[in-house]
Amino acid sequence: MASNDCLFCRIRDGVIPAKPLYRDEHCFVLEDINPQAPTHLLVLPNRHIPTVNDLQAGDEALVGHLFTTAARLAAERGISGSGYRLVMNTLEDAGQTVFHLHLHLLGGRALGWPPG
Ligand code: 5GP
Ligand code: ZN
Repeated sequence: MASNDCLFCRIRDGVIPAKPLYRDEHCFVLEDINPQAPTHLLVLPNRHIPTVNDLQAGDEALVGHLFTTAARLAAERGISGSGYRLVMNTLEDAGQTVFHLHLHLLGGRALGWPPG
């Protein structure tokens, strides 16, 4: 999918107004529009990567950056100690609906396991 057709690329570029909570040269962070927990943030690479299947050799530092950014946000939200979940849904069986890689940060309540 061309990034022109991608919701999260359009938000990244300000075509769709949304205020990222954070951005840097590698990633940006949004409040999920339909939160499933008191904290539900999305950590996204700036670069359009559709799914985990599309990651390339050389993307390891980027993926690590998404995780360290999520951990820092969890600390800022005060949920580092109580716990939280980081999820990347991939394709149909996982329920991926937007095909621009994103790490869900969910926390602020006890989360069930296994997921549905
Ligand atoms: P997925 O199902 O692909 O793992 O997650 C996509 C997430 O994006 C969903 O949790 C959904 O609520 C969120 N989402 C969909 N559209 C928008 C939007 O326009 N803005 C924001 N901030 N989140 C969105
Ligand atoms: Zn995109």
